[in-house]
Amino acid sequence: MTKKIAVLPGDGIGPEIVAEAIKILDRLKVDGLEVDIEYGLIGGAAYDETGTPLPEETLAISQAADAILLGAVGGYKWESLDISVRPEKGLLGIRSALNLFANLRPAILYPQLADASTLKPEVVAGLDLMIVRELTGGIYFGQPRGIRILENGEKEGFNTLVYRESEVRRIAKVAFDIARKRQGRVCSVDKANVLECTELWRETMIDMASNYDDIDLSHMYVDNAAMQLVRAPKQFDVMVTTNMFGDILSDCASMLTGSIGMLPSASLDENSKGMYEPIHGSAPDIAGQNIANPLATILSVAMMLRYTLNQADMADRIEKAVSTVLDQGLRTADIYSEGMTKVGTSEMGDAVVAAL
Ligand code: NAD
Repeated sequence: MTKKIAVLPGDGIGPEIVAEAIKILDRLKVDGLEVDIEYGLIGGAAYDETGTPLPEETLAISQAADAILLGAVGGYKWESLDISVRPEKGLLGIRSALNLFANLRPAILYPQLADASTLKPEVVAGLDLMIVRELTGGIYFGQPRGIRILENGEKEGFNTLVYRESEVRRIAKVAFDIARKRQGRVCSVDKANVLECTELWRETMIDMASNYDDIDLSHMYVDNAAMQLVRAPKQFDVMVTTNMFGDILSDCASMLTGSIGMLPSASLDENSKGMYEPIHGSAPDIAGQNIANPLATILSVAMMLRYTLNQADMADRIEKAVSTVLDQGLRTADIYSEGMTKVGTSEMGDAVVAAL
């Protein structure tokens, strides 16, 4: 049956990198992949045209789709807008509206890029870590929030860190289920020594683990986790954590692999419907120059095929094709090292299509 994919290119480098991912889907269609693609506006591009970063129409297309492919949102142009209509609000809005509560962020170091990491090759070679980040709760969504003026005239900013037990249970389930298909180890990251909310997080994780005898659950405070990620990242198999901690730790983990431009992500609901996107932002500093790395977005298509469209073979083919172009020495500027061949965004996309 033909599957529907909503494609939301967004801002900055979004349209450039998404164009390369579409080349991959077009190539796979030749081999029998049955997908219909519908485009929608999101972020700053949507604000410019409709006055809102998440138009109703985009939401409707996304709700009707089996999967969503997103580029990135945001940029200097929209930074002074009121927070309620900033591009990032579109992204948070769609994640929340579609109940995409589980964010899967793999950090895999391709052996060909061991030199691109800022860490010593022996520390990172063979890294294969999955960060499972809670995506629709926690401090990014908690109420009350805002900036208020105190009696003495001073301004005070405030946000609320809040998690319900049921929210922790469902993200724990995702992490434990994924760990079962990997090495069976889950490290839950919290700040239970200081934040009551994450004390509950830890208690709930321990309770959930009683249903998973085969899983080895450990706990780590977020400050230590940040340190361990750069000291000895290979100790981790699956890491599960809150929205904000996961946001920060997954960017840190991405750098272990050499470039933020290499890492895909999936955000899933309870029925494995998903939104797929690179973990990086809209990179306004390099937008429009054909130098952005499209591989994270192309690998996001591989995740889409694996987790939502049930086409694991095609997902494997994309991942192998990416490995092949790296073997060929092709590198975008962000992963370039001496002796390699520097290519632009579109050349990299074409090379992956050729390798497919
Ligand atoms: P960023 O990820 O856009 O860029 C960080 C650095 O990495 C920049 O130097 C950029 O040039 C580089 N980079 C990012 N992606 C790259 C790629 N594919 N190839 C090569 N280099 C790449 O983060 P930022 O600069 O903090 O944010 C820029 C804008 O993106 C902001 O408006 C921010 O809010 C937004 N943002 C959006 C998302 C998203 O859409 N999911 C995520 C993070 C940030």
